[in-house]
Amino acid sequence: MRLSSAIVATPAPVRQVHPGPVLEMSATRIVAALEGFRAAFPGVRPFYATKCNTHPGVLSTLHGAGSGFEVASVQEIDLLTEAGVQPYDMLFSNPVRAREQTARAAAAGVYRFSVDSFEEVRRVAEEAPGSCVYARLSSGPEDSVVPSEGKFGVDVPQAVSLLVQARELGLTPYGITFHMGSQSLDPAALRRPLHDVAAVLERLLQVGIRLQMVDIGGGFPARYDEPVPPLAEFGRAAAEGLALLPYPVEVFAEPGRALVAEAGTFRCRVIGVAERPSGWWAHTDLGVFHGLMEVLESGGNLRYPIHDTRRARLRRAFHLTGPTCDSQDTFARDVLLSADLREGDELLVGSAGAYTSVYASRFNGFAPPRVVMI
Ligand SMILES: *Cc1c(COP(=O)(O)O)cnc(C)c1O
Repeated sequence: MRLSSAIVATPAPVRQVHPGPVLEMSATRIVAALEGFRAAFPGVRPFYATKCNTHPGVLSTLHGAGSGFEVASVQEIDLLTEAGVQPYDMLFSNPVRAREQTARAAAAGVYRFSVDSFEEVRRVAEEAPGSCVYARLSSGPEDSVVPSEGKFGVDVPQAVSLLVQARELGLTPYGITFHMGSQSLDPAALRRPLHDVAAVLERLLQVGIRLQMVDIGGGFPARYDEPVPPLAEFGRAAAEGLALLPYPVEVFAEPGRALVAEAGTFRCRVIGVAERPSGWWAHTDLGVFHGLMEVLESGGNLRYPIHDTRRARLRRAFHLTGPTCDSQDTFARDVLLSADLREGDELLVGSAGAYTSVYASRFNGFAPPRVVMI
């Protein structure tokens, strides 16, 4: 006997199977961002920071448009190899690697490795003899929305010593790099590290070492809900710093966010709306653990542009939170949306192409978002 049949007064609503959150990546916008980067940094060779968004369509779009790639693991090298990227178009910029990572990268044909410790120089000499190394400088205090924690990098004297040690161990002292912290809002942040780069080059000249390459790293900003300084201002700051070097070098950069963030839009669904003493809440099938982790990393300072497709004239402020029961799942506060927002409405989260899908987990059982190229 079906007990429930007696109390069902109205037919159940028709259930449509919703595909769940989707991250749409525009190939056209990725290529436009790469062109924009090249225009802002004439003569600088971009190596896209693979970790930012590893979707095969993103990688092959950038490869097709002529970008090189910065990697941090053998797994990223494998992904790139599948996308048709050659190992000589990759830089291994993670300064401390498990030794088998270095060995396998070298076996795959990657020949340039960053270092910031004597131990790592020794490991590279053992696992990838004869390869090229570039030293990572620390970049000091910074004004960036998603700061690095000051983990990596050495000072000028130590960078010099590392590259001298590299030569003694049969490696090629190849270059120098730094990374100013992600979503930098201050072009002047390039000044001090480039000053240090010049000092390293000068001191190395005195011991007969000339470097081939300077890598100005990543950290260049993308636009979220507010304007950011144009990339051209970062390009000018870089050019000013590079003009102080004692001799000409090849110049590389490792933009991640600046190439893919604005090309991505999340489409997600409102699963419920609730009025609580703390305000109006919209619960969505997308949250911090399924793509919007950078909201936590930036302490809420990274604010995605968010719209709903209802587009009602009457607006109401909503707090937006994901589908899990974790209290850290809230990804935006006081966002003005249609006042009559309701279950089933679609939300668009813009500038979502960088550091989103790659951070997504299966937390609480919810699947990570699908990524599609458009
Ligand atoms: C993550 C990373 C980048 C890219 O940083 P963005 O802020 O996305 O431009 C570049 N270089 C290194 C070494 C990195 O770790």
